[in-house]
Amino acid sequence: GQCVAYCPTGALSIRNDIDKLYRVLKSKKKVVIGMIAPAVRSAIQEEFKLDSDLFIAGRLNTFLKMLGFSKVFEVPFGADLVAYEEAHEFLDRLEKGEKLPQFTSCCPAWVKYVEEFYPTYIDNLSTVKSPQQAMGSVIKEIYSKEIGIPKEDIYLVSIMPCTSKKFEAEREEHKGVVDLVITTKELAQMIKASGIDISSLKPEPFDKPFNLYSQGGLDFGKTGGVLGTVLAVINHKVKIKNVKEEEIEKGIRLFNVELENGRNVRAMAVHSLGKAKRVLRDIKEGILNVDIIEVMACSFGCIGGGGQPYPNDSKVRQRRAKILSDMVNINPITSPQENPYLMELYEKYLEHPLSHKTHEILHTSYSPKRRVPEQEVEILPLPIPEEE
Ligand code: SF4
Repeated sequence: GQCVAYCPTGALSIRNDIDKLYRVLKSKKKVVIGMIAPAVRSAIQEEFKLDSDLFIAGRLNTFLKMLGFSKVFEVPFGADLVAYEEAHEFLDRLEKGEKLPQFTSCCPAWVKYVEEFYPTYIDNLSTVKSPQQAMGSVIKEIYSKEIGIPKEDIYLVSIMPCTSKKFEAEREEHKGVVDLVITTKELAQMIKASGIDISSLKPEPFDKPFNLYSQGGLDFGKTGGVLGTVLAVINHKVKIKNVKEEEIEKGIRLFNVELENGRNVRAMAVHSLGKAKRVLRDIKEGILNVDIIEVMACSFGCIGGGGQPYPNDSKVRQRRAKILSDMVNINPITSPQENPYLMELYEKYLEHPLSHKTHEILHTSYSPKRRVPEQEVEILPLPIPEEE
């Protein structure tokens, strides 16, 4: 087959994390497994001017295999897993009328924001881990046993649009799960340094059993994707009669969801922490009444993440959103329940949503990091610069 030098140029040593990866690959002491987040592919397409290349994910898989990865999985599978679990968590809270509104917890910058500045809302965060950590836990705790490789011998690399994901992987409670996080920018550097024309690589399917995902699983890469997938799960369970969408303002969308059982759910998708702050304030003041809120810290969601290549302005983000939508729309699996490998994972190992087993593997907890009096929360150290 084709061959790639392990340390192609000095340019790679700019980023320590790329060096780390090359060292691990070269030593051959560990089985290197990769997983790619949804927002990465559209940015790579855009970066390499391959806007209409629907096979880009498969080409990235081929590239990583050439570097020495033994398996490459789809983070959108983990997104399906998270949405499936989170939808059941939400229905449970709705039934009990507690810990509402439920906040999504996929975005580590948002989670940290709540922990630091709004600790009274910590219980509102979904306890389901992010796709990165949920998927990582399944790989280390379940998949490793299935393939008979001790988890200590697996080196798990996630490829993310996000610098906050590096921080998330290093959180105390997540230690030993994801071993390294590489950003899209770093992946692009590796491709360029290898001298390989990515568009010429033959796309290869990702590895079973984490290579199938629903439309929503892929849509996690942009604002509204998590919420949409949670609603797809709910629709499968209790049937949604009607959804009315309203743009409250730029960055804040409200969905009035009428369920067939006569209940109404008010769902909200928010992007950028500035908008989230406003929403939290309105909830606190009792002006806003919602049941579930998705918050992504970056504007337009992960496609606009801090680990994405430059330029990363709103025009580029909209183009990435369009590319991602095209990929979402050609996927025939419309809800996580239709993902056969996901259902198999529950049947064989996880039993059912909110089971003892899922609490052990898929759920986490949060803690207030620092209590800040309300009036001090004026100038916010936003983890990701906003650009609108
Ligand atoms: Fe990371 Fe931004 Fe996505 Fe949050 S919205 S997970 S900070 S890329």
